[in-house]
Amino acid sequence: MLKIENLHAEIDGKPILKGLTLTVNAGEVHAIMGPNGAGKSTLGYVLGGRPGYEVTKGSISFDGEDLLEMEPHERAAAGVFLGFQYPVEIPGVSNVQFLRESLNAQRATRGEAPLSGAEFLKVARAQADALGLDQEMLKRPVNVGFSGGEKKRNEMVQMGIIDPKFAILDETDSGLDIDALRIVGDGINRIMRKADKAVLLITHYQRLLDYVRPDVVHVLADGRIVRTGGPELAHELEREGYGQVAA
Ligand code: ADP
Ligand code: MG
Ligand code: MG
Repeated sequence: MLKIENLHAEIDGKPILKGLTLTVNAGEVHAIMGPNGAGKSTLGYVLGGRPGYEVTKGSISFDGEDLLEMEPHERAAAGVFLGFQYPVEIPGVSNVQFLRESLNAQRATRGEAPLSGAEFLKVARAQADALGLDQEMLKRPVNVGFSGGEKKRNEMVQMGIIDPKFAILDETDSGLDIDALRIVGDGINRIMRKADKAVLLITHYQRLLDYVRPDVVHVLADGRIVRTGGPELAHELEREGYGQVAA
């Protein structure tokens, strides 16, 4: 599904990714771990097409298409979803409005008809119920005044509504208590653990991986993948630290 080859990327002329190679097949969950400043978030932003992240070498193909040739909205419409450590607050825009417009913009790019308000509400309510998010939260401005746990539930509701093919989740577990961690883990499994989908889970800690069992674990250090293994690699990292494992 995703094939990254010898990727080099820089920010403001500073090289961050330095020859990163990674293949993710449909049906797989890959965890990316690694020390602070290794380039994990940069990888997520490059995949999402964020401005300012310049690819200087290498290639990324998604479902056989050249991802780097696609605009950010085309990537989203093709099924790429980026989840962030700190979900944004959007005062003045209700959650339903925001979610419906996101979904319909993607449908339009794919040449699909927009969902009506009633059709959309049905989908949104089902997702909110599945995440245990109060229906009232759908009417409130996006993330404004939401607790940390509510923001994470909301992000999972958003992912459930968008129903992406490929999700990059960047430290979506940071700062979560055990209950919120389980909610996020269950959400990822329910929405994304399918034969035709895949996930790149960027995390510092092994604990989220107790809920979402990765098929493959990579260590990203200094802009490259320096080790790849199975779930046991995450435990090894937790025990030994990155210094030993990535050396
Ligand atoms: P990680 O997510 O693995 O902690 P990042 O991808 O956030 O690492 O950052 C990788 C490197 O890029 C760091 O050295 C960081 O300081 C640098 N960096 C990130 N964003 C910027 C930016 N906007 N301008 C300059 N340097 C940046
Ligand atoms: Mg970091
Ligand atoms: Mg980061």
